[in-house]
Parts: sequence; C-alpha cells; structure tokens
Amino acid sequence: GPPVFTSPVRPAAVPFRTSPVTPQPVAFSSGSSLPTSSPPHFPNGSAELQQQLPGATEESMPAGESPCVLFSAHKLLKHKKLANVPSLGFGVLVSPGRETSTGPQVIHRDPHRCHNCGAYSNLYSNILIGSGQWQCVICRNLNGSEGEYIASSKEELRNFPELSSPLVDFIQTGNKRPSFVPVTDSRTSAPVVLVIDECLDEAHLQHLQSSLHAFVDSVPPTTRIGIILYGSTVSVYDFTEESIASADVIPGGTSPTQETLKGLIYGTGIYLSPMHASKEVAHLIFSSLRPYKLNVPEVSRDRCLGTAVEVAVAIIQGPSVDMSRGVVKRPGGNSRIIVCAGGPNTYGPGSVPHSYTHPNYPHREKTAIKWMERLGREAHQHNIVVDILCAGTCPVRVPVLQPLANASGGVLVLHDDFGEAFGVNLQRASARAASSHGLLEIRCSDDILVTQVVGPGEEANIDTHETFKNDMAVSIQMLSVEETQCFSISMQNKHDIKSDYVFFQFAIQYSNVYQADIARVITIRLPTVDSVSAYLQSVQDEVAAVIIAKRTLLQAKSYSDAIDMQTTIDERIKDIASKFGSQVPKSKLYRFPKEISLLPELLFHLRRGPLLGSIVGHEDERSVLRNLFLNASFDLSLRMIAPRCLMHREGGTFEELPAYDLAMQSDTAVVLDHGTDVFIWLVCK
Ligand SMILES: [Zn+2]
Repeated sequence: GPPVFTSPVRPAAVPFRTSPVTPQPVAFSSGSSLPTSSPPHFPNGSAELQQQLPGATEESMPAGESPCVLFSAHKLLKHKKLANVPSLGFGVLVSPGRETSTGPQVIHRDPHRCHNCGAYSNLYSNILIGSGQWQCVICRNLNGSEGEYIASSKEELRNFPELSSPLVDFIQTGNKRPSFVPVTDSRTSAPVVLVIDECLDEAHLQHLQSSLHAFVDSVPPTTRIGIILYGSTVSVYDFTEESIASADVIPGGTSPTQETLKGLIYGTGIYLSPMHASKEVAHLIFSSLRPYKLNVPEVSRDRCLGTAVEVAVAIIQGPSVDMSRGVVKRPGGNSRIIVCAGGPNTYGPGSVPHSYTHPNYPHREKTAIKWMERLGREAHQHNIVVDILCAGTCPVRVPVLQPLANASGGVLVLHDDFGEAFGVNLQRASARAASSHGLLEIRCSDDILVTQVVGPGEEANIDTHETFKNDMAVSIQMLSVEETQCFSISMQNKHDIKSDYVFFQFAIQYSNVYQADIARVITIRLPTVDSVSAYLQSVQDEVAAVIIAKRTLLQAKSYSDAIDMQTTIDERIKDIASKFGSQVPKSKLYRFPKEISLLPELLFHLRRGPLLGSIVGHEDERSVLRNLFLNASFDLSLRMIAPRCLMHREGGTFEELPAYDLAMQSDTAVVLDHGTDVFIWLVCK
C-alpha cells in the first residue's frame, strides 16, 4: 500500500514534539514575561566590537547540519555568476515539523529579537558579556538583553540554550489573548468529521465498511467524531440515542440555507460526540450502510459532495460563540474533515456534468474549481483541514476536487479500492495532529536573495515594521502545520560575497494542539569558498536533486508540460557539465563533474518515473502524485524521484539492486518501490 502520510503510523500527538509532551501548564505558568527587546540606545559600533567579543560558540557545530533544514550544498560559492548558474542552483529544504532524535531545546520564556530586523539571538551572536548586549548575525545591529546575557565568562553563556544550540523551541509566555484560559476539557479538542459517499456498489461498500469499522476502533476515546453521508441528499448522523442509527436529512441540490444550518446547530441533535460515548452507534451506522440501488452507471450518480462538506464545516464551527464559563473557547489545532469518495461531485454546488462531452463542461468545470477553492479557503479560515480519500475505478474529476484539499491545507489521495491501503490512510489522516496558525519566516545575510518557495503555503503579507524597523524576512503563511511537510526554497547570490560565512535563520511560529504559541528557531552558518571543486564536493546530490525536481514539477501541470520538462532535464545536465565540468581533450564534449556524479542518475529516474514519465496509468494519478510531491518531505520526495529496486530471491528474501540496473532478469521477480506506488515485475516462464 502507498505510505502516503507518514510512516510508521503515529498516535495523535503534538506534531512538533516539545521534549516530553507536557500539555497546558508550561505555556501558561507565568504571567510575567520578558519584553522581546529593549530600546535601542546603543550605537551600532560593530566593526570595533567584532574583535573584542569572541563568539559564544566555536566551531563545534558541523556546518549545515540540522534535521529540519537540508541545504543543497554545505558551502557557498563567493563568485556570483557561478553560484547562480540556474541548472544546478542553490537551495534548502525546510521541514518545520520534522521530529529530531534528541528533541529540540525548549525555552519557557520569550526570545530576544533584533530590534532592527527581527532576527533571533543565536549560537553565532557575538555577546558583550559585560553589558549583556548581543549583535545580530543578519544585520549586525547591536541589541540589549535586559541584562540577561551579562556573564562573567563566555562559558557561562552556554547555559542559554539559544546561544548553544542551532535548533530551539520558544514556548511563548506573552499572552496575546486576554480572554484566554487553558482548555483542559477534552470535549473541546479538535473533531474529525467523516463525509462518506453513499453511491457505492456492493463490493466497494463492503471494503469501505471494513475500513470504517477498523477506523472506529483506532480512534482515541476522547476524539470527537461526526458522520455525514452524501448522495442526492446529505444525511447528518445524530448521536443522541446510544443504540439507534438516526440522521437528519438535508437537500443536496443547493447550499444549505442559514435556516437549515441554524436548525441543526441550535437543535437538540448531537452531531459531534466523543468516541467513548458513541463507539457502539458508530459501528451500528457503518453496518447499516446499503449499496446503491438504482440502475445508474457509477459516474452518473448524484453526489452532492460540495453541499456535504459545507454542512460538515458548519457543524464543526457550531454556535458562533461558546459562552460557557463566560470565555471564548476554541479548539486547539486544526479540525479535520475526511471525505471518502467513490466518484465525482455531480450534484449541487461545485458540481460538474457527469460526462466530459456535455456542451457546457469546460465552463462548468471552471466554475466548480473556483467554488471548491473558495470552500477550501473558508475551511482554512476556520482551522479546518479537508482531506479527500478517493477509491475505485470511477473517475473522480481530480482537477475539481484538488483545490478543495489544497486550499484547506489537506491532501487528495487516490486508491485502487476501499480496502487495506485506504483503511490505513484513513487512520493516518485522522491521527495527523495538526497545529494551526503556522508562519515560516526566512532571514538570511544580505548577500543572499530568496528567489522561490515551493510548498504547502502562500506568501504572507504581515507588517512587522511597527516592531522591527527593517524586517526583510520572507514570510510564508502555512496552510496547516504537520510533521511530513516540507518547503523547498531556492536562493541566489545578490553579488560576489566578501565575508567568510553566510547566515540563515528559519523561524516557525505556530499554535500547537494545546494552544501554546511556539516559535521554533533554526540558525545555520555556512562557509563561503572561491574554489569550484570545494563547492562541488560540498554539494548534497540527493538534496540538490529534490530541489531541482520540485522546481521542475511546479512547471509540469499537464501531461504535455511533463513531456517538455523531460527535455529541460536533459538540457540541465548538459549545462551543468559545460559550466562545472572539464573539457575532454581535443573535443567539444565536457566531462560531468565527478563530485556530483549521483545527480544525473537521480534526474534520470525523475525523467522516467511516475512524476514525469508515463509509468502511472492515468493523467489524474500523475496530477495527484505531483501535488503530493510538491509538499512532501525529503525522504518521500527522494523515493518518488528515484525508486528502490528489490529483487525477490527464492526463500522469500529480498536483495536490493542498483535502481539503474533495471534490465530485468528472466527468472526473478523484481519490486520497484516508488514511495507512493509499488511496481512489481513478475516473470511468466
Ligand atoms: Zn538584525
């Protein structure tokens, strides 16, 4: 089955582990908080200070090493023209939520931030131990620390985690929400609503029922769930009775009216119920599902998927303000809607005609895409993520459904049937604890320009200039905050670099499932070099290949684009050889630089694999893989580019073969693991 979300399955927990998981108390224990920075009454006398102030940390950290941040090279070329050769390029993969083996250093106080640019104090900051002043590595401004960094020796400063570790998590004590109280009541945790297609044939339905029963048994008892079915109407199941499956039915042909929704939300029905109270009835509901009865082909059946998701959003929101105990409560983290679909949305808002040959299809599709994107954005505004899990052979019209998943921060996945792989993904989707309000800020030395960001987010327009006069950060609003996400960031030299080091700082702010505000700060220093060979030796072939592949796939929207991109990969390889390779004597040919010899092989696999080649059957499948790939972590991305090739040996063992050795042997079975799909070569003798 396709390991799509994360492997292995993790229990629902904080996606960003803050050492031993301690819920509320830590974040709210202290009412007092340190100001983020003190007034700038120090002149910027950096040049002279440089000599006086030894850095708090020596060369103890290996350059460019952090599990959340992977650079395409561990050194930078000083020379602008060579550094910016676009065929190779320079960039970094940032996985904000990736767990680290040791866990991050957790700091229970507000960070010190540069008054001028907003960067955080870090292990490379020069500190004036007499006055506690620290110098910003990004803009060189000198900042105060409220005396906190006053020390008798620089050794003493190592007690500050942010001055000794490249990765720290600040749990912020500054209380931005006056009406806020810690939520200890599990009933307020973010719910999961299943939105289920009721137009399935018997075989599909049986598979789905098994998956749903297993899902019910896997959900933690305190998780609140809701169950909605859709066909030509929307059925919202009511958990009031513990031993009867009963539902309220709403017409599916138009968006539900305010009256209808009010009737639901303020009525007596219970549509979201914790699993411990509703397990029996949930099993009952799933057992009572019946196969589609009418004699209508799969693709033409009325499915009001759009209306059903609208209803799910309304139920999760509930009454606009919950005034119990006189305070506004909001669930921590993101709520989740999981759509289980066996066919296209053909009825009601956001629908398309069931046949491509419908004279109005292109226009209807355009309208439907816009509508779905708007619904996804609305869900996102209410911190609801919509995942769409499709199965079966009936086309689901991926171009229409994908925007709903994307705009809400969710994923769309295709499955062959509703069986085991679907069931596993259903459980993973519900277990993906998602934080919310994520913001990724990138700050780097003035030598470096961020040219492109690929990943599950959009540019944020946040004006911090009230607080920081010259904040040049690139800010990205994250649609959801999850462990398996990744941003691919391309960069260039602005000019020839004079200094020996360049600094990069990535700051990720988010609210975790316990509503604590976290700021994760990662600071990396990379050395600069003149020597092309030294630079090439520091190139990380696999990271470079993933960044190149993401840039390429961004352009490969349609199948014909994908074919064009195959050609650009060939040209890219030639260009790298001519710019960085050596000329073969008495020839116009260039030898590819041996320092990065793995890169062409990886790009070769990209060219013929499922992302750009024709190895997967349908263009819809390629399009779904492309969307997953653009947001996927380094490990999954690499596997999607270059497969693992395993040969089956007699006796049931597998032997790994080099993936380029795909000349199939006539007497063995070969398995190709492409991350999301497994291809099996069986020999018929
Ligand atoms: Zn600064």
